[in-house]
Amino acid sequence: DPAVAGAAPRPDLTRPTSDPALDARLARLLRRMTVDEKLGQLQQSLGNSADAAAAARAGLLGGVLGLDAAAAINALQRVAVEESRLGIPLLFGFDVIHGFLTTFPIPLAQAASFDPEVAATDAAVAAREAGSAGLRWTFAPMIDVSHEPRWGRVAEGYGEDPYLASAFAVAKTRGYQGGDYSAPDRLAACAKHYVAYGGVEGGRDYNTVDVSEQRLRNLYLPPFRAAVRAGAATLMAAFNTINGVPAHGNRHTLTDVLRGEWGFDGFVVSDYTGVAELITHGAAADGADAARLALTAGVDMEMVSTEFVTHGKRLLAEGRLSMRRLDDAVLRILRVKARAGLFDRPYVDESREITAPAPADRAAARRIAARCMVLLKNTGALLPLSTGVGSIAVVGPLGDNAPDLAGTWAAKGARLFPPVTILEGIRATAPAARVTYAAGCAVTGTDESGIPAAVAAARAADVTVVAVGESADLTGEGGSRSDIGLPGVQATLVSAIAATGRPFVVVLVNGRPLTLAGVDAAAPAILEAWHPGVEGGNAVADVLFGAVNPGGRLPASFPRDVGQVPIYYNHENTGRPADPNNRDTSKYLDLPDGPLYPFGYGLSYTTFAISDLAVRPARIAVARLRAGAQVEVGVRVRNTGPRAGDEVVQLYLRHRAASVVQPVRRLRGFRRVTLDPGQQIAITFRLAADDVGFYGNSGTGELLVEPGVIDIFVGGSSTADLTQSLVLT
Ligand code: BGC
Repeated sequence: DPAVAGAAPRPDLTRPTSDPALDARLARLLRRMTVDEKLGQLQQSLGNSADAAAAARAGLLGGVLGLDAAAAINALQRVAVEESRLGIPLLFGFDVIHGFLTTFPIPLAQAASFDPEVAATDAAVAAREAGSAGLRWTFAPMIDVSHEPRWGRVAEGYGEDPYLASAFAVAKTRGYQGGDYSAPDRLAACAKHYVAYGGVEGGRDYNTVDVSEQRLRNLYLPPFRAAVRAGAATLMAAFNTINGVPAHGNRHTLTDVLRGEWGFDGFVVSDYTGVAELITHGAAADGADAARLALTAGVDMEMVSTEFVTHGKRLLAEGRLSMRRLDDAVLRILRVKARAGLFDRPYVDESREITAPAPADRAAARRIAARCMVLLKNTGALLPLSTGVGSIAVVGPLGDNAPDLAGTWAAKGARLFPPVTILEGIRATAPAARVTYAAGCAVTGTDESGIPAAVAAARAADVTVVAVGESADLTGEGGSRSDIGLPGVQATLVSAIAATGRPFVVVLVNGRPLTLAGVDAAAPAILEAWHPGVEGGNAVADVLFGAVNPGGRLPASFPRDVGQVPIYYNHENTGRPADPNNRDTSKYLDLPDGPLYPFGYGLSYTTFAISDLAVRPARIAVARLRAGAQVEVGVRVRNTGPRAGDEVVQLYLRHRAASVVQPVRRLRGFRRVTLDPGQQIAITFRLAADDVGFYGNSGTGELLVEPGVIDIFVGGSSTADLTQSLVLT
């Protein structure tokens, strides 16, 4: 058996290197700066305002957001470099979230690939394209773990598990930055939103977060720690409060943890008007107080609002802000500018601006979109369809819809190069079939008048593809929903198609876990395609017709009903184990236990067997783990079905007893493998102290590695039942 070495993706443990020679050079520059010029470096403004050029000329601007073309960026940069007293270059940032010209699937979809290389590829392509437009910085990766499918921003992150999110945080940071983000085809990354934004109460955007220290440490902080260890240049503060203190004024997270414990030497940018929002939060009395609170807590650069630059001088004069802290913030910003190569090469070569996705990058977007799709149901092996099928009806409001396939936070590529629709992809893949289209209804609204035409189309076809889900604007920032079922009358459309008794497949186009109990009951086959990006329609066709065997897995639980939310696989046990005969257990009287589809779930056109779980050694002393020893967990995986396909082998841990109650399962390793029919391989996961350890409530960041029994589960989903125990002594 060929062994797959180093199976568990593991964040690199190197810290960002601090560079004394660079800091000495920057300190000389700092000594030449006036207080106004120092405060100016802390200001980030929209580049398309008339004031931006004036501010740049006066040395009162440090960073810019919103510009995405080389000519405009060079023009403003020229003002800063050639017309300001010190000529300090501006840092141009943009929301390059899942592509710039080449639109990749949304991040939540990418998490479903269980393949961090997907995020690395997206980031590298996007950095090359955006870098050619003069951008040096992206407001990504967004790595907020969330148990809240009502929250629209789950589309932007990597789901409900901190280990999966950490692996993607590392891959995406490296993909943007490469080894050195001074290269013109790289971008400085910004890990956001720091921190615990995914915990907003009720899933309502911007809402309150009240979180214990142990949950902060075990759930929300790990992806940020991983990103910092991978060298992320910057972090962005989050809009929410954390235990009564807004993230923008939170010294514990911004300074004690980030700088003290993790040694972060980049800078923290506020979120959009996040400093001024300290007043509306009720944490600061006025603008000056907001500036004081944010700066002393550890925000270095202010996005869009202008409290630092307006009130900084007064705060210094009144002794409410120290020059030492101001200098620290300026130095951090200058350091990132220097590392981004801006002092050596402030301008971008406009003649080399990339203006269209390269064919190879579109091909990568297609391969990746298909790799992210999750087969949720496939009764009677209805899928894959034959390209020889006589007639196909495509119905549903997402069936011939380009813009919504791009998803939330699409950059200019989505406008200039709209996605291939599902109808177009099916027509191109099955050219001999007669393909008809009827929308049936819109994504939202109550109009059912189009449903009869869709039903007629389905009756006349050999098979129907029903494309339903969410428009892009129902997800992302401000995109919270109280009902996470199919919006509008789309569920009625699905029922009407089901009532024809003809074979049909539901293709879901959406940006969050949905409640699909009705669809699951009605549809023989369901494919989760997410918001799949520029090649979305082609990728859907690749999977429907079997050119690609789907291998994605859910990165978040899909509830049966919104009333179960929050429902997540990595929950704690109650004192009342599930027992159908006991009324007084932790459940709802009106729903079956558990989600409809669990975390890690997904089907394939083939089948797999996972066996021979071995834990070596099965007993180990805590001290040995702390000294660097590792435990090897080996399994065999075999493709037992008729086609080549992908299995995602997942390793979960459970501590039977610990000083802080541990999740019933937590992911600690995964590996996506492709196997031919009959092929078998051995996989080895390696567990270190970091994997079996956890954090308590002390607030010190000390990793707890406690003696006791740990159950290890390995399989193809979070419900894996192959198990062995590991004893820590
Ligand atoms: C969002 C950030 C984004 C910023 C700049 C804010 O509203 O929360 O995620 O990076 O705007 O566009």
